[in-house]
Amino acid sequence: MIETREPVLTLESIRKNYRRREALRGISLKLYPGELLGFFGPNGAGKTTMIRCICGLLRPDSGRIVVQIPTESSSPKSQRPGLVPQNLAVYPDLTVQQNLEVFGRLEGVPWKQLRTRIDEVLEWAALLERRKSLAKTLSGGMQRRLNIACSVLQKPAILLLDEPTVGVDPQSRERIYAMMEELTQQGTAVLLTTHQLEEVETRCDRIVVMDHGTIVADGRLPELVEQSIGKPHRVELSFERPCAGPLAGFDLDESGTRATCRMESMQQLPQILDVLRHLEQAPESIDVRSFGLQDVFLALTGRSLRE
Ligand code: ATP
Repeated sequence: MIETREPVLTLESIRKNYRRREALRGISLKLYPGELLGFFGPNGAGKTTMIRCICGLLRPDSGRIVVQIPTESSSPKSQRPGLVPQNLAVYPDLTVQQNLEVFGRLEGVPWKQLRTRIDEVLEWAALLERRKSLAKTLSGGMQRRLNIACSVLQKPAILLLDEPTVGVDPQSRERIYAMMEELTQQGTAVLLTTHQLEEVETRCDRIVVMDHGTIVADGRLPELVEQSIGKPHRVELSFERPCAGPLAGFDLDESGTRATCRMESMQQLPQILDVLRHLEQAPESIDVRSFGLQDVFLALTGRSLRE
């Protein structure tokens, strides 16, 4: 697909070493307004280092980072990316309101606008009723939402979140993704890192897979599956005894007890399974599955994510 939009963030060949350890080995990437980009990769892949480079906490050894705010953008304005770090960064002994006031002032939001802005983000984060509570008395999920609220007061055009759902209850996780959706609808570009396969597969518009400091895949999940694996669904039949009969469309393994077939669409399943009607022995098991990010990672790196 030819991309016609202008990126809000461009990374060109970013490299970063920690002494002799190569954390980023030439990362190039574009992030577009209004998209939710999921950065996915095993421990140590370089996700946090990349986020720290984008928001200026680390200086890359080489490469270029360009932030370009869309001129027609009506809502997000600030060129400085909002950051929600991996570890909670709120003041536990201040109230929710006080935390927002401190972060708002640090971000340079004018005092006159800050009151209204705080009301807006409290509603957005579903924390209006807790504005007078000390941060330390909130649940983990609420503290995370407060942390996120603190990072958007200046309406950043780019929001970076490092593992925003770790240690968060399912209800807050839903709320956090609803918050992200509202932001992307307003044109904010959201980049988050996560270890959670299911989250990145189902919630993100685009997925970037990192491994050992490089990007090994970048695209929507169906594209990644197609590029690295091919047809996205698989049917596997297991037989107790070697299968003698004709199994049109299936590949039979050497033992003759395992047959596999790839499908473009699940709608092909009834037609594919029709071959079973002509077999002498029924299969012991039938396994139908769709390939996901786990399989993409395995196909691209030769390693399982759990290794
Ligand atoms: P995780 O998912 O565990 O947070 P990550 O993908 O965010 O991992 P990074 O934290 O960016 O990965 O680390 C990339 C590599 O750089 C790792 O090998 C890590 O050990 C190393 N590293 C990170 N920070 C430092 C540091 N301050 N000094 C030395 N090495 C570091």
